[in-house]
Amino acid sequence: MTKDHARKNTARSRQDRAGSAYTSANANTLHDHPGPRFSTVAGAAFETDHDADMSKAAALLAARLAACEPCQKRLTTRILKGDLLVLAALAANLPPIPPPGVRSGTRTIYPVLSTGSGVLILGIIGAMPRRERADLLADAIDHWADLAPTLDAAAASPEQADPSRVIIDLGLPSEPPRADGDPPRIWEFNFTLPAPPPRPAGNGPHEHSFALAPVDLVSYRLVHAPDMAAAAALVGAVADRCGDCQSRLFDDVLDDDPILLAELARTVYSQFDDIGETASPAARSFFPRVRQAGQTGDAEPLLAAIEGMDHDHRSDLLNETLDFWAFIVRGADLTRLNRRGRRR
Ligand SMILES: [Zn+2]
Ligand SMILES: [Zn+2]
Repeated sequence: MTKDHARKNTARSRQDRAGSAYTSANANTLHDHPGPRFSTVAGAAFETDHDADMSKAAALLAARLAACEPCQKRLTTRILKGDLLVLAALAANLPPIPPPGVRSGTRTIYPVLSTGSGVLILGIIGAMPRRERADLLADAIDHWADLAPTLDAAAASPEQADPSRVIIDLGLPSEPPRADGDPPRIWEFNFTLPAPPPRPAGNGPHEHSFALAPVDLVSYRLVHAPDMAAAAALVGAVADRCGDCQSRLFDDVLDDDPILLAELARTVYSQFDDIGETASPAARSFFPRVRQAGQTGDAEPLLAAIEGMDHDHRSDLLNETLDFWAFIVRGADLTRLNRRGRRR
């Protein structure tokens, strides 16, 4: 067998495993899938001396939109081996509140995203294991792919589409996050996209639990300990990184007694001297009350604050609180995270 035949046979068996086209497996090249480009991201915001070349990330988005598995695999590998600044730029443009079903590796970066510090974002990505970086990359690409049909609907003339003219203008981490649901700044976007493939469904509810510290009954002027089971299960699901149960238990906690959210948030915010400017309005209004409760020993105003919030604000507060719980359950020292992450 000649060298050439051997190479072709290797390519064929690779094709059999991956189900990919023989020609592309043989050449080990990428298809030229049409898609939008990302703007170049300035490295200065991350205190690096070079800018982020987002072309591979754009190619991955295009491959994702074309549902081309071989290109997605290759580009994912190349990006994960390449410049961390690309991942940092994508991370800085994730939605400000983690969407339900976000991958566990991505969830771990959210507390750092809210600091708005490019240095910290880049630093934590450098410290993340490859698996978590892969989660982050997949969620960032999902984010843009999910937005694509919305943007397409606003396009002027889909028939004359030229996807390469579309440029997604990526923001920098020092900018305040966009409001949830706000469309990103797009210069042009006009081509038709296949629907994203559905995520595999979970196996139904499981049992999760976490040993929460006992509630200080005196501070709430309570005689009997409240039932914190839903809160303990939710933190357990965070610890076990079970996205399905987190979504389910999230609503259970919001629908339960306000002391569940009050205690989960108090545990987090009592460890901080200050709160980032990019924290949600709900967290910014709750934080000073936690400090005050710490000084007066009276936690009843925390319950009143939760009761006074509408559903969206309670949801925001719980979401941000859980981002920090993801660190607490791993034994992280939040006071340290805050001091290093605070913006100047
Ligand atoms: Zn392809
Ligand atoms: Zn579960």
